[in-house]
Amino acid sequence: MAAEKTDRSADGIRRIICPRCGRVIEYARVSDIATFPFCSARCRLVDLDKWFEGDYRISADPAGDGLPGTPGEHKQARERGTKREKS
Ligand SMILES: [Zn+2]
Repeated sequence: MAAEKTDRSADGIRRIICPRCGRVIEYARVSDIATFPFCSARCRLVDLDKWFEGDYRISADPAGDGLPGTPGEHKQARERGTKREKS
């Protein structure tokens, strides 16, 4: 996917580029960044939102079923609502 540049300098600081906004993030350990690999919670949310919007839809699933145990209750609720509107 996005170019994930990692380079380690003498003081152990690494840099990556946020795949969402392109900002450079400096860190010593991945655990230092709660939102890794994004620079902020906002960027991570934007990316998650893209998934929910269907930009990155993995499988064509027009019926909206076949996704048991999806960890996104509000997404399921939304699909259910959409289905009801259609029929
Ligand atoms: Zn970002």
